[in-house]
Amino acid sequence: MINNNNNILEQSVQYLKAVGPKRADLFKKIGIRTIRDLLFYFPFKHLDRSTILSAARAYQYVLNGYEGEVTVIGVVQNKEKIRYGKKEIFKVHLKDKSGFFECVWFQGIKYFYNNFNQGDTFAISAKPSLSKYNNLQFVHPNFDKISADESNEFINTGKIIPFYKIPKELRSNYLGDLSLRKIINFAVDSYCDFIEETLPENILGKYNLLHLNISVRNYHFPESQKMLNESIRRLKFEEIFYLEILIASKKNQIKTKWKKIPYKIQSFLVPKFLETLPFELTKAQLKVLSEIKKDLFSQTPMNRLLQGDVGSGKTIVALIAMLLAVDNGYQAVFMAPTEILAMQHAKNFSNYMQKLNSCYPDREVKVCLLIGGQKKSVKDKNYDKILTQQADLIIGTHALFEENVMFKNLGLVVVDEQHRFGVEQRSKLINKGNMPDVLVMSATPIPRTLTMTVYGDLDVSIINQLPSNRKPIKTVIRSEDSLPDIYKFIIDKTKEGYQSFIVYPLVEESEKLELKSALTHFEELSTSYFKNIKVGLIHGKMSWDEKEEVMFKFNNKEFDVLISTTVIEVGIDIQNANIMLINDAHRFGLSQLHQLRGRVGRGDKPAYCILVTKNHIVNSGRFKNINLEFSSPAELEKYKSSIRLKAMEKYTDGFKIAEIDFKLRGPGNIFGIEQSGFPKLNFINLITDSELILSAKEEAFQIISTDPLLLKGENNIIKNNLLKYHSDKINYAKIG
Ligand code: ADP
Ligand code: MG
Repeated sequence: MINNNNNILEQSVQYLKAVGPKRADLFKKIGIRTIRDLLFYFPFKHLDRSTILSAARAYQYVLNGYEGEVTVIGVVQNKEKIRYGKKEIFKVHLKDKSGFFECVWFQGIKYFYNNFNQGDTFAISAKPSLSKYNNLQFVHPNFDKISADESNEFINTGKIIPFYKIPKELRSNYLGDLSLRKIINFAVDSYCDFIEETLPENILGKYNLLHLNISVRNYHFPESQKMLNESIRRLKFEEIFYLEILIASKKNQIKTKWKKIPYKIQSFLVPKFLETLPFELTKAQLKVLSEIKKDLFSQTPMNRLLQGDVGSGKTIVALIAMLLAVDNGYQAVFMAPTEILAMQHAKNFSNYMQKLNSCYPDREVKVCLLIGGQKKSVKDKNYDKILTQQADLIIGTHALFEENVMFKNLGLVVVDEQHRFGVEQRSKLINKGNMPDVLVMSATPIPRTLTMTVYGDLDVSIINQLPSNRKPIKTVIRSEDSLPDIYKFIIDKTKEGYQSFIVYPLVEESEKLELKSALTHFEELSTSYFKNIKVGLIHGKMSWDEKEEVMFKFNNKEFDVLISTTVIEVGIDIQNANIMLINDAHRFGLSQLHQLRGRVGRGDKPAYCILVTKNHIVNSGRFKNINLEFSSPAELEKYKSSIRLKAMEKYTDGFKIAEIDFKLRGPGNIFGIEQSGFPKLNFINLITDSELILSAKEEAFQIISTDPLLLKGENNIIKNNLLKYHSDKINYAKIG
C-alpha cells in the first residue's frame, strides 16, 4: 500500500504514461528508476518561445531582420512530399487569420508526414525565415498539436521550453525531444505536488526561496523567466547548504573531539634560525607564520591550507613551523610530490641545519630523506632513524605512506603542492601520528569561494606578496621558425652568466603527436647550436641519483642549459636560472605553464619565459585578436590553447592566471579538486554563485554551532534530508 507522498514518488517510471517496461529499462541505464529520479532530471537549457505572433507579424519580423524564435499558430491546409533527385523533403502549408506559412523537413519525413493532417491546428516554433518564393517558412520547427480537448496545452511551443540531454541509450528507442518532454510534462503535472519540502520554512523565508515542488515544476516548465531563475536559485541553495552543513559539522567535531597537547616552547631554535637566514621574511610570510603559531600553541590540531603563488616562499615558512615542532620534542615530516623536489628540499634543509647545528652542537637537528628510488639498505636505515627519532625533519615522497614508515613522535605534517596528493594519501600520513598538526601548501591559487567550499574545513592562510628581490619575468610567444634566433639569444645570455631551462612535453618521440622529445633534442642541440656551451639533460625516466646529480650540477653552474621534460615543473628552485624556454607550449595546461615559468626569475637578473608554439597558431589572424574575456563558450572551446598562451603573455599574477584557467577548465576540472574527493555539484557554480554560497555557509555554520547534532525539532528536517538526499556528500565530509 502506498501511504505517503514519498512512496508515490518512489514508484518505477514504468507506470508513467508513455513509458512502460521497455522505456523504463532505457531510463534505468541513465540512472532514472523512480518518478522522483525523473522529476529531478532537469533540462540543460531552455528556449524562450513565449513570443506568439500572427503569420503576418512573423513575416514582418523576418523582414526587420530579427533573429530569435517565435511561435505561430495555424491550421493545416495541405501537405506534400517533394522529391529532388535522390532527396526528398516534406512540406506542410498552414494558415492563420493573417496569412499563410509553411514548414519544411529534410529528415524524419515519414514520422512528420503522419503527424500533420488537414484541418488540425498546430503551434509552430522556430526561427522564421523566407523561402525561395518569399513565403514565411519554418525549417525543422518544434510544434504542438492543439486539439479541442487540450485547447491551450502547449508543451513544445508558445512558452519557455525545456531541452533535455538525451543520451544515446534513450535515443535508441525513439525517445526524442518531443517524446521525452511529453513524458516529463506528464510526470510534473501528476506528481510534482507530492514532492516534500527539504528545507526548513524559516530558511525559505529568510532567503526568499521557493518551495521545492514549485521549483521543480518551474525548472521544467517555467511560468516565466523570473520563476525559472528563482527555481534554480532554490536548488542551488539546497545543494550548497547541505554541503556546508556537513563541512560545518566536520569542523565542529574536530574542534570538540580532537585535542592535542599545545606547544609550550616558544623560542629556542627558531630565533637563531632566523638570524642565519640570508634574507628577511616578507610581511606576508610573518603574518602567515603567526597564524600557524596560534594553531600550534592551541589545543585543536592545526588543519591549515597555506596558499601562495609560485616563488612566494612557502617552504621557509613550513620549515620554521617544523623547527617549532622539533623545539617541542616532535618529529616533523615534509611530503613532496616528486623525487627531485624532495631531494632539493632535503638538501636545502640540511644546509640550513648545518649552520644552525654549529650554533647548538649538543642539540643537533637531524634531516632525513626518504624516497622510493633509494636502495633497500638505505631505506631500512631511514626507517630505523624515523622510528627511533634519530631523524627530526623527514622529507620524502610517496614512499612516506608505506607501512614500514613509523614515527616515534610525529607532531607536524607538511604536504607540499597538496593538489598532487589524494585525500587518502594525505590521511595515511596523518594517521602515522597522534593527531598531528597539518599544514598543506598549494601554489594553485583558487578563487575564494572555491577555497571556502572545497577546503571548507581547513583554515586558510595566504602569502600575498613575493619577496621584494623578485624581477618581473618577461613572457613572449614565438613560432617554431624563431627557434634559431632564440638559441642565439640563449647563447648570448650565457655569456652574461644566465642559465636556461629548455622544456619539452614528452620523453619519447611520439610520431602521432609530433611532439619533440627532450632526448632527441638534447642530442641534436648539444652537437649543433649549443656545441660551445654546456648542456645537461634531465627526464623522468632517470634514476633518482642520476636526477640528483644533474640538478646538483645545474645548481653549481656546471651546465648553462638544462634540457628537460616536465619533471622540473613543480617546486624546484635554482637561483641563477633566468630563461625558461617551453616548446610546444600549446600542449601545456595554464597552471602547468605558470608553474614552469615560476622556476625562473629568482636571481638578480631580468628573467625571460619564451613560449614556443606552431607557426600556424602564431601566424593566424585569429590569434592576434584573441579576447581574454572570451564571451562565447564555443570560442572558448575552440581557442583554448591560444587563450592559455595569451594569458601567460599578459599576466604574471597567479590568481589572475588561475581565474582564467578555472574558466577554461570549468570548476569540476580544476587541478586538485578531483583528488580532493569533492562531490559533484549539479547546480552551484563555485565562481559566480559566491553570494549564495556565503549565505548558505553562514546559515549552516550558525545551525551547527547551536545544534551540532541536529537534535532540535526545527532541525529534524535537515537531519532527515541529509541522509536521504545528500548522502553523496557525506563521504567528502567524513573525518579521516
Ligand atoms: P614556493 O612558495 O613556490 O614554494 P619557495 O619556498 O621555493 O617558493 O621560495 C622560492 C625562493 O625564494 C627560495 O629560494 C627561497 O629561499 C626564497 N625566499 C623565500 N622567502 C624569501 C624572502 N623573504 N626574501 C627573499 N627570498 C626568499
Ligand atoms: Mg614550493
